Amino acid sequence: MNPRGTLRFVLGDQLSLAMSSLRDIDPENDVVLMAEVWDECTYVRHHPKKIAFLFSAMRHFADELRKLGFTVDYRRLDAPDNKGGFRAELLAAIERHRPARIVVTEPGEWRVLEDMKGWSEFCGCPVDIRVDDRFFATREDFSRWAEGRRELRMEYFYRDLRRRTGLLMEPDRKPAGDRWNFDKENRKRLPDSAVPPQPPRFTPDRITRQVIDLVGGRFGDHFGDLEPFWFAVTRRDAEAALSHFLEHALPHFGDYQDAMKEGETTLYHSVIGLYLNCGLLDPRDVCRRAEAEYHAGRAPLNAVEGFVRQILGWREYVRGLYWREMPGYAETNHFGAARPLPGFYWTGETDLNCLRQCIAQTKEGAYAHHIQRLMVTGNFALLAGLAPKEVCEWYLIVYADAYEWVELPNTHGMALFADGGILGSKPYAASGKYIDRMSDYCRNCRYDVKASTGPDACPFNYLYWNFLTEHRAKLKDNRRMSLIYNALDRMDRRKVENMRAEAKRFLDAL
Ligand SMILES: Cc1cc2nc3c(=O)[nH]c(=O)nc-3n(C[C@H](O)[C@H](O)[C@H](O)COP(=O)(O)OP(=O)(O)OC[C@H]3O[C@@H](n4cnc5c(N)ncnc54)[C@H](O)[C@@H]3O)c2cc1C
Ligand code: SF4
Repeated sequence: MNPRGTLRFVLGDQLSLAMSSLRDIDPENDVVLMAEVWDECTYVRHHPKKIAFLFSAMRHFADELRKLGFTVDYRRLDAPDNKGGFRAELLAAIERHRPARIVVTEPGEWRVLEDMKGWSEFCGCPVDIRVDDRFFATREDFSRWAEGRRELRMEYFYRDLRRRTGLLMEPDRKPAGDRWNFDKENRKRLPDSAVPPQPPRFTPDRITRQVIDLVGGRFGDHFGDLEPFWFAVTRRDAEAALSHFLEHALPHFGDYQDAMKEGETTLYHSVIGLYLNCGLLDPRDVCRRAEAEYHAGRAPLNAVEGFVRQILGWREYVRGLYWREMPGYAETNHFGAARPLPGFYWTGETDLNCLRQCIAQTKEGAYAHHIQRLMVTGNFALLAGLAPKEVCEWYLIVYADAYEWVELPNTHGMALFADGGILGSKPYAASGKYIDRMSDYCRNCRYDVKASTGPDACPFNYLYWNFLTEHRAKLKDNRRMSLIYNALDRMDRRKVENMRAEAKRFLDAL
């Protein structure tokens, strides 16, 4: 490298040619550094499928850069002199290339950004940390929006972004269909006769096979099945997965967004979170393409709005919240929950069928859709008072799309209400009745979803009422909880006591 050149460090979830770190690249003088490092695979013991996905996608991206004429210094995990961590790899790369400066795009995790701020001093070389502008809103946009607000509700941030981007907006600045939100239409139970489309499965190529062997050898003892491996690992295949979703699943995405069915892991969901989060897909492009399906009359508004809301609304909102509230957010524990994560979260061996199904598919595919994460594994964690840190670590480990900036607010804020209401206006707590309404899990369960006491009673039922009783002091003044507390107060006292006793027995045995 020319000593005036720049070392451009591209992290594993920054696999886009549009990264700010690559923007002014000089192919003659600059070197792109990419590194597979042990520390990032093991600071939590990620699902092997997630590691294989990222390593393979990184290797394919490095090849793409080389084909475009850039010099890439790619550090494989199994290279004998691999240093195992970002700092050591960077130092070694400086020795090799003697750059005048380092350019990097800010990472998605607070932990890594804090470390990155010390790189310049550590390496004795200027480090330019650039904004990650793959999002609709910058971190500053969110802070400005949040400033002075009493409540930070996603809905209002989302509406602002709809107005700013023009997505699903009429020329008179009204929302398409004259409504911002079609959620009420998006809670249908899946009919038994429905046959949801399967996402396309990509056969591993030579590079992916090499990575699978490597990951199997090094991380085979982590939770989760490495094979079958069928994720897209290139932009082209990720685009194909998106196109398949838009054509076959988007039209029903809204209707069955909250539905769950035994043996059907993805239903009408897109399974693109992993591609968006590592840069293979661009959220702006995804939303525009979904909007085009609505305008072309191929997908109804409740489906397209519901889908766009997830990306333009929730995804942007949780990112803004994460950066605004860190590092304190990771410590939140509103209910003082302290019970260790039960072993069945790692084995799936439980007789609660809903949990068994969701955990088994997570282990196999590193995927569960939103309602499975929120209303089954998350709901159980909330009702059983599982320690937020342990729950959070589980979610970060088990899903192929998991990165702290998106996972932490969803876990601490949405699933556990550990943040005391920064993200949500009330806990997403529910009894077995909700799971029965939205799935067929209860049909094949040894418990009776209609019973709240007795040996066959569905544990979600007594845990739910027990949770409400236990946290009455913290929840009773929440207006959105008043109906539920009225129902609790009208309940026969003996029944409530019996449910509490069942809950204690169940929790003591966990
Ligand atoms: C406890 C918990 C943990 C979660 N952890 C993660 C995580 O680590 N990474 C992650 O990307 N999502 C996470 N989510 C959000 C959501 O469940 C996943 O994004 C979604 O299930 C991914 O599947 P999909 O691509 O098929 O999404 P679809 O249902 O098809 O939705 C489309 C896209 O919208 C975005 N999206 C949807 N819901 C959310 C949300 N609540 N927050 C942010 N983006 C959203 C995702 O990018 C997703 O790919 C979590 C949710 C919960 C309740
Ligand atoms: S009966 Fe209860 S435990 Fe069994 S599947 Fe239904 S909700 Fe889950």
